Amino acid sequence: MRRKLVAGNWKMHGSLAENEALLSGILAGMADVKAGVAVCVPFPYLAQAQAKLTGSAIAWGAQNMSQQAKGAFTGEVSASMLKDFSCTYVLVGHSERRAIYGESDELVAEKFAAAQAAGLTPILCVGETLSEREGGVTEAVVARQLDAVIAKCGVASLAKAVVAYEPVWAIGTGVTASPEQAQAVHAFIRTKVRGLDAGVADGLIIQYGGSMKANNAVELLGQPDIDGGLIGGAALNAEEFLAICRAG
Ligand code: PEP
Repeated sequence: MRRKLVAGNWKMHGSLAENEALLSGILAGMADVKAGVAVCVPFPYLAQAQAKLTGSAIAWGAQNMSQQAKGAFTGEVSASMLKDFSCTYVLVGHSERRAIYGESDELVAEKFAAAQAAGLTPILCVGETLSEREGGVTEAVVARQLDAVIAKCGVASLAKAVVAYEPVWAIGTGVTASPEQAQAVHAFIRTKVRGLDAGVADGLIIQYGGSMKANNAVELLGQPDIDGGLIGGAALNAEEFLAICRAG
């Protein structure tokens, strides 16, 4: 039985004061949450997350990292730096990184490898754009994004990773994939991995992300292959986020 994992992706939101209130609110409501819970915060707030969440049931992580270990890479942040703040997770390949910052499948695979080498658990984001869905290539796109990681790191690497299926057309748009649409892609991902390693496939946490809210979380998280959520906008409100966590 896979334990559900609900992770908040704060994106470039927050302030010391706002984060304090948000984390206090989430912590106060955790007693009846059975799912695993994590927050992926902006780099400057990792120390705050660490101070506030150490000893709690909430894990924390970052939203991006460099594929490089160290060196002359101005503005970049390495996996070992994230480890210094006791991060558990790091997002790799979020669609905003792929689309806005031109991250290729290969670069995402390098980041994935660097994260694992440092002992972080990468949350590998995959998903198709609207035109790709309408063009009937959803599975081909998701397979290509997964294959880049499997080619570099091997299928066994997925035993220490999380996959987040995030249809790009559903991220931040208020348009959610229907439970059936999401389940179909999640099942595709698990079946694809099962073809390489059944044990890895059975244990793989596959989150759904894309306008998941309190009012659609129960149905989405009730699907057999949806093992949690990666939550953007709704992760910025403690009660909304907790309601999603409780649905897990
Ligand atoms: C995300 O950014 O990963 C995301 C799923 O955002 P939202 O929940 O706002 O669609």
